[in-house]
Amino acid sequence: MTTSSPAAQAPAPEPQEDKPIHILWINAGLSCDGDSVSLTAATQPSIEEIALSVLPGLPKIEVHWPLIDFECGPVQGADTFIEWFFKGERGEIDPFVLVVEGSIPNEAIKPEGYWCGFGDDPETGQPITTSEWLDRLAPKALAVVAIGTCAAYGGIHAMAGNPTGAMGVPDYLGWDWKSHAGIPLVCVPGCPIQPDNFAETLVYLLHQASGAAPMIPLDEQLRPAWLFGATVHEGCDRAGYYEQGQFADTYDSPKCLVKLGCWGPVVKCNVPKRGWMNGIGGCPNVGGICIACTMPGFPDKFMPFMDEPPGGKVSSAASTVYGSVVRRLRAVTMHTVDAEPKWRTRGDTLTTGYRPPW
Ligand code: SF4
Ligand code: SF4
Repeated sequence: MTTSSPAAQAPAPEPQEDKPIHILWINAGLSCDGDSVSLTAATQPSIEEIALSVLPGLPKIEVHWPLIDFECGPVQGADTFIEWFFKGERGEIDPFVLVVEGSIPNEAIKPEGYWCGFGDDPETGQPITTSEWLDRLAPKALAVVAIGTCAAYGGIHAMAGNPTGAMGVPDYLGWDWKSHAGIPLVCVPGCPIQPDNFAETLVYLLHQASGAAPMIPLDEQLRPAWLFGATVHEGCDRAGYYEQGQFADTYDSPKCLVKLGCWGPVVKCNVPKRGWMNGIGGCPNVGGICIACTMPGFPDKFMPFMDEPPGGKVSSAASTVYGSVVRRLRAVTMHTVDAEPKWRTRGDTLTTGYRPPW
């Protein structure tokens, strides 16, 4: 995996004052559509505010998102939804932001069929695969955003032993990919995504498209830097218990959950600070261990989720030093878990370790 610098030096795109900015949303990667569902809870701003173009300082926005779109007819029908994507391919709705939800299966290992697709090709009547849509639309897009951990890094579908060779959008397009406007791929991970993290990122890109914001700042894993710069642990309500060496043995305790398997000290995620919906919730704050769902190494590098963390066994007799021991050991693993497993790549060979059951 190559890392991409935030590309702060790249020029911002020219302002697009009169044209609407289209958002083309493909939710046909391997996913549960949980990121689409999650986004309905956004408040900063809400999806209604984005879709109705009522945000000050932004041009008209036209959202083509399967979850809310009234256009739902078939190919070449009276109200065909998929036609917007063909328009994007033909360059008729420039500019547009392409949002991809779900991981990208490796169609190169599936010659007898396909793993997933989105609409049919009018020429052949056959499904257009999700990866083919990426090939068609990414070169025309102002920006490409991977929403959720599946699209960003592969997620659950891309774990060891999977049969599809699934990968994230950066694995498919390349980690150094840039749009024709010079904007790197933007990854907003989460399983599912924290709704306001995505709404805010989308609005940032729309402001950038209208010439009102500089190049979006991203970290080495292509995450918006201002959202993913701190760890879960740094924002957790239970951090005081951690420092005092007071650890929960059961889930009904208010103390630190690290002995129950919380990965918060090495996980980059703002959910404990931001909450889940309208500031409420936030995994460890409300009793759930952090299972690292935002991380490139998720899930493989954090399993089994409910085991004691590294260092747990050696220090269980000395609870006051437990926190510092775990912190040191997890600092060592930080760089390992902030990277994907090596099998999430393109190519015509499946390297996940999958063995057919017959
Ligand atoms: S280890 Fe987990 S529960 Fe404990 S303080 Fe850190 S984030 Fe919170
Ligand atoms: S706190 Fe952990 S489990 Fe919860 S959303 Fe963030 S990374 Fe995922």
